[in-house]
Amino acid sequence: MVKPTIDVGELRKQAIHASTLAYSPYSKAQVGSALETSSGELFYGCNIENASYGGTVCAERVALWKAVSEGHLKIKRIYVYTRDGWPPCGLCRQVLSEFSDESTEVIIGDEKGNERKMLFTSLLPEAFGPNFLNK
Ligand code: ZN
Repeated sequence: MVKPTIDVGELRKQAIHASTLAYSPYSKAQVGSALETSSGELFYGCNIENASYGGTVCAERVALWKAVSEGHLKIKRIYVYTRDGWPPCGLCRQVLSEFSDESTEVIIGDEKGNERKMLFTSLLPEAFGPNFLNK
């Protein structure tokens, strides 16, 4: 049974909470994301930096990996929160595209309460995905 859609305010609240958990001693950036799966489950994540910078991971991918590792492979919506309303980076867009479809929504929020809502496909048009490999 599919759960009802999670309220956007709840996604924002969870993303803000996640941002407070950021481990970012180098950039000082605090990013939080809250991901709603197609079955109505919610996962959140924060950015986690590493002294070996290549080991750093963004909040969006932390939330996604939590969802995927629990068996949830489709993203309905993802809310990304930063103080200034940063959009997902290019690497996150590519990784998210693997688990998104034409109805997946992205909401970008900032500390002033501004929110920009868009379809994921507008963030990464012409995405490279499984359809190119599974022929
Ligand atoms: Zn990223």
